[in-house]
Amino acid sequence: MLPFSQYDAAGRLRHLITLDGMSRDQILELLERSRHYLAPNGAMPIRTRALEGITIGNIFNEPSTRTRSSFELAGRRLGADVLNLEIQLSSRVKGETVIDTIQTLESMAVDVFVIRDAEPGVTQFVAENVYDHVSVLSAGEAHLSHPTQGLLDALTILQYKGGFRDLVVAVVGDVKHSRVARSAYQVFSALGVGELRIVAPDALMPNAGEMPQAARFSSIEEGIAHCDVVMMLRVQKERMTQASIPDSAEYHARWGLTKIRLGLARPDAIVMHPGPINREVEIASEVADGPRSVIREQVTNGVAVRMAILETVIGNRRLRGDHR
Ligand code: ASP
Repeated sequence: MLPFSQYDAAGRLRHLITLDGMSRDQILELLERSRHYLAPNGAMPIRTRALEGITIGNIFNEPSTRTRSSFELAGRRLGADVLNLEIQLSSRVKGETVIDTIQTLESMAVDVFVIRDAEPGVTQFVAENVYDHVSVLSAGEAHLSHPTQGLLDALTILQYKGGFRDLVVAVVGDVKHSRVARSAYQVFSALGVGELRIVAPDALMPNAGEMPQAARFSSIEEGIAHCDVVMMLRVQKERMTQASIPDSAEYHARWGLTKIRLGLARPDAIVMHPGPINREVEIASEVADGPRSVIREQVTNGVAVRMAILETVIGNRRLRGDHR
């Protein structure tokens, strides 16, 4: 059996499981497609009927507001049918029953599975076991990967900064438990961000050897100094096996992005956060709601990115001539 690949025999994207290994050109092409779905003023994405007749199954077994609703809207705005299910796949990752579940939905003519799961490997396992015409898209895999988030973050930076090479980008907070940070690292490295920093308390730093191209900072003041982009992360208590951090007030005092701390970044720095935000923990409300915050634009861009990915994998399927 060939090793798993998210690309088809012609090298075109069939599944989206990870951004790891994606080239700069492949990413820029996806960002370009995403831009196409954004109205010029940055307003909500345009509608088409490009996916008429296609059915998308959203299978989420971890909480989600933005990712699930934006995949759903992305599908609908392209004219697809969308079904939403909350199914526990992870506890049975290698079992027959996962396949039973997926095959049941395949028999109802689901063309694209969008999967969020708390256990590593589930999305790839499903991708390895679906019909040739079916695609699988990750909507967040454990602490490992959140590829559409990485793309929407890159799109947001492109929109506000016009490029990547001259930028200093700081990813700040609970990096250790964050799939957002891992996908951000992959996409920013591929795009050649000028200087990439990870900024975290020792207990929330990823393991040594992970994210080798990023400089590590263990003080927020030093880490965000002169940055163009400050990407804050949610403190992921649900992924901590023991209390690795002090209480919220103390975390905010040492690690929260306040207006005063933001003054250390470049005057035109943007502030990002994947959401959901913990107000007054990792970020002060006056920053989250302030003039430098692009958090809401990230959400809008998420719909455009998910439209572009859906259109890409279905377009590639049509090029392959794979049918139900
Ligand atoms: N919504 C993002 C995720 O699913 C970030 C977070 O939950 O902190 O990973």
